Amino acid sequence: MAPVDVLEASEVNLALPHDSLIVDVRQISRNVLSPLTGDIDAGFYPSDLLRELAGAGAMSAHLKAPHGYDDMSLSLKAMAEVSQVCGSTGFLMWCHGVCGIYLQQAASTHLREERLLDHVCGFGLGGTALSNPMKSYAKIETFLLHAKPVAGGYVVNGSLPWVSHLGPENYCGAIAQIEAASGNNLSREVMFLLDCADDAVDLQTCPSFSGMEGTGTYALHLNNYFVDEDRLIADPAQPFIRSIRAKFVLLQTGWAAGVIQGGLQSMRAVQSSLGHVNRYLDVQPAQLQDEFDQWWDDTLALSRMAPDGSDEGFVAVLKARARGSVLSLKSAQAGLLHQGARGYVMTSPVQRRIRESHFVAIVTPALKHIYSEIDRLEGLLKNH
Ligand SMILES: Cc1cc2nc3c(=O)[nH]c(=O)nc-3n(C[C@H](O)[C@H](O)[C@H](O)COP(=O)(O)OP(=O)(O)OC[C@H]3O[C@@H](n4cnc5c(N)ncnc54)[C@H](O)[C@@H]3O)c2cc1C
Repeated sequence: MAPVDVLEASEVNLALPHDSLIVDVRQISRNVLSPLTGDIDAGFYPSDLLRELAGAGAMSAHLKAPHGYDDMSLSLKAMAEVSQVCGSTGFLMWCHGVCGIYLQQAASTHLREERLLDHVCGFGLGGTALSNPMKSYAKIETFLLHAKPVAGGYVVNGSLPWVSHLGPENYCGAIAQIEAASGNNLSREVMFLLDCADDAVDLQTCPSFSGMEGTGTYALHLNNYFVDEDRLIADPAQPFIRSIRAKFVLLQTGWAAGVIQGGLQSMRAVQSSLGHVNRYLDVQPAQLQDEFDQWWDDTLALSRMAPDGSDEGFVAVLKARARGSVLSLKSAQAGLLHQGARGYVMTSPVQRRIRESHFVAIVTPALKHIYSEIDRLEGLLKNH
């Protein structure tokens, strides 16, 4: 692989023909990913595959040129292609894709230039540690990372219980609450790039989860992690989060779409052998396909409207994301009911998808978080 510093950003972009992206991603999914799905489910983190997907442009189409095509719908379709084969890998694409947004819009020139180029090419792999801050902004929990202002930046301490797409050389976008000077009650947060290779960072193995075991998920402990200018994404963080929150959430719908399509495929796979009895089940493939098509068309249309920071736009995105979660659960369960014992075998993709679909519904923003945000924002909009 050529060292990244000999590549120009324009070369990277031009190496990714827009039209063939989905064809390339489909090939990678079928030929490279499909044989790995059992291993990934059992805990194998597919870093080489992710680099290949990055090289194909599959995780950066939503970024602005020259690093992407400013085409969120293309990123969603690429993620759906992968997620119908493996929901865990689809989730990792989201982690990487959303980290690309942080880097492209970062305050630091170093992040916007060198690090973003590495990221887009797949030389660097990085995710997002924003569940806790997103839930803190929604008043569901309190900030777990704390930053102390020091000469030249901040020193950050604290722990996060689970962050994915990590490894010894990986990184993620994170947010810490800044200690207010005494007598000052105004709190604010700083967003920064957290490099796992830094001595101040300790990655610890998580307890075994029922699924998503191959997502490189660790508990993160920070002991005096120094954030200098080069690692700064946004200070203060909240206006930045407001500007990217719709993209953050909308990008997850590509992953949900793949899980739903995977469930539909599982239902159809047994139609000829079990259709005579499966026709009595409540959820039928044709009806679910119609529901999916309607939701997917609406979601892709939303993605083409370039989501902004407005509350109205965000409510529309949250509703699309909630619908995607509900359909993921419905499709994965229907797949199992149609497949019966075949789908109950532990190594069956149907079984794996049941566990993946539940993660679609509990990862931040979890369904309960989405519904509470919709309620809060619709209340605000009504009172305006
Ligand atoms: C496999 C996996 C991967 C994840 N990847 C990421 C990621 O990449 N980035 C990221 O920011 N977040 C990640 N998360 C966190 C995720 O997005 C949610 O925040 C989490 O699933 C809990 O969400 P919830 O809203 O349902 O909260 P709830 O489950 O309702 O939790 C409420 C509170 O209890 C705590 N809690 C609940 N159970 C436990 C437990 N067993 N141990 C310790 N604390 C507990 C939670 O942290 C939270 O503070 C991951 C979680 C899992 C399981």
